[in-house]
Amino acid sequence: MAMLDRNARALFMGEIAGGLWLAFRYMFKRKVTINYPFEKGPISPRFRGEHALRRYPNGEERCIACKLCEAVCPAQAITIEAEPRDDGSRRTTRYDIDMTKCIYCGFCQEACPVDAVVEGPNFEFATETREELMYDKDKLLDNGDRWEVEIAANIAEDAPYR
Ligand code: SF4
Ligand code: SF4
Repeated sequence: MAMLDRNARALFMGEIAGGLWLAFRYMFKRKVTINYPFEKGPISPRFRGEHALRRYPNGEERCIACKLCEAVCPAQAITIEAEPRDDGSRRTTRYDIDMTKCIYCGFCQEACPVDAVVEGPNFEFATETREELMYDKDKLLDNGDRWEVEIAANIAEDAPYR
């Protein structure tokens, strides 16, 4: 009996008809997929993406070279060198992040007393070579300039919970 049942199903292509019926039903339901990269889904203000170094509105770098981010980084991905300027302020002369080591834990951002180093909302920074993932200070400041509006909005949105 079971064999007859199996043969009848194969003969009338019941599985295929069932599959087609399922596909037909889902044609009229709300789509759960998006047409990436032309459409992008919402991301949390706490999203930990590509790193950036921020500036104050007058263009001055926020980073005061305290090296807390370098000390806290569990992957030892951050390298900082610093020296005092003529005006006595302390600034970095070198700020590198090896993005191939980074584990995106966000500790550097948490440790920074002046919100200088942040993990911004950008998640599209794949590269073809490892060398391109060795970020230097210029690259990080460029990222900060490019994403400042989004980064500032995310920090403001998350501020009540920090
Ligand atoms: S996110 Fe974590 S691993 Fe990456 S640089 Fe910051 S502290 Fe280091
Ligand atoms: S980015 Fe922040 S934590 Fe790191 S050295 Fe600069 S001020 Fe200190």
